Amino acid sequence: MKIKLAEQRKQKPDFSKLGFGKYFTDHLLVWEYDADKGGWQEQRIEPYDDFKLDPACCSLHYGQGIFEGLKAYKTEDGKVTMFRPRDNFERMNRSAERLCMAQFDVEEAVNGLVQLIKIEEEWIPAAEGTSLYIRPFMFGTEPFLGVHPSRRFLFTVILSPVGSYYSGGLEPTRLIVEEHYTRASQGGTGEAKCMGNYAASLLAGEEAKKKGYDQVLWLDAEYKKYVTEVGSMNMMFVIDGKVVTPMLDGTILRGITRDSAIKVLKSAGYEVEERKVEIEELVSAARDGLLEEAFGTGTAAVISPVGAITYKGSDIIINGGKMGKITSWLYDRITGIQRGRYEDEFGWVKEV
Ligand SMILES: *Cc1c(COP(=O)(O)O)cnc(C)c1O
Repeated sequence: MKIKLAEQRKQKPDFSKLGFGKYFTDHLLVWEYDADKGGWQEQRIEPYDDFKLDPACCSLHYGQGIFEGLKAYKTEDGKVTMFRPRDNFERMNRSAERLCMAQFDVEEAVNGLVQLIKIEEEWIPAAEGTSLYIRPFMFGTEPFLGVHPSRRFLFTVILSPVGSYYSGGLEPTRLIVEEHYTRASQGGTGEAKCMGNYAASLLAGEEAKKKGYDQVLWLDAEYKKYVTEVGSMNMMFVIDGKVVTPMLDGTILRGITRDSAIKVLKSAGYEVEERKVEIEELVSAARDGLLEEAFGTGTAAVISPVGAITYKGSDIIINGGKMGKITSWLYDRITGIQRGRYEDEFGWVKEV
């Protein structure tokens, strides 16, 4: 590991007004891969600065790029921890495989990240709801035109101190079921956290916002019948006391918060079903008064209550538009494990 520290540290933002993803720390991790130089080079920590890229940099043209998102915390007793970092890097390797990108050593990636976070420790906010958001990403850097896999990659990690995802508290969101555009299809890249998936989803999101919704709820591409997920969150529904979530079918992102939520719920005795969920099932469950709660799961928001879902012009109102009991219980459990308020019975917390 080569370390070059910044000569001048940036002025820190007001930690009580961080918002999300607006400020970046003094350093970043860079790790270059070059097939012609034997693969992965020595990792480097350098001052945060602009990239210099060849205009023919292949990922700017053909989108060979992937990313991850996880968080580091300062716990009440002053320790610095991360939540399930190995799982993120393992998923990143699976995304890399899908996009013909280089595989990396997960242990080495975690070690590089730990060193970076140690250097940036003063950037980790401590208040409840705040954290240091970690954004690893990798993209092809070889300059060429013509569609083939890059032989060079840049693996980078940048860090951003973030406030609570919710500026106005845990307000339930309003979703609209997207009936025209699709996010992912069988055999596509839905399970990879790759850049293009998000570019492809923007138009639907913008149209939904114009109509006053927060986000779109995606259906499966083939039948437009099954609920899949929301922009950067997996979905869970409480139907007649049972927690139901769309099964991982290759089109849905394998959320780490989703996995954590399932394990925490099951260990507390809740029944959790991973299966196909028809949108019509939600409509009829709501009509029969059995759709008790709905929430999204994802690193950024952790658990996000859903108050209403619009489908074919009709509103499905959930729990009177208010956050449900299981939703708030789960939010408290997961954030509590992350911040060290509850015992880490699953071995998810890694001390830096
Ligand atoms: C990142 C992401 C999620 C959530 O994954 P976590 O590991 O829980 O953060 C869900 N859906 C999509 C499409 C995502 O990009």
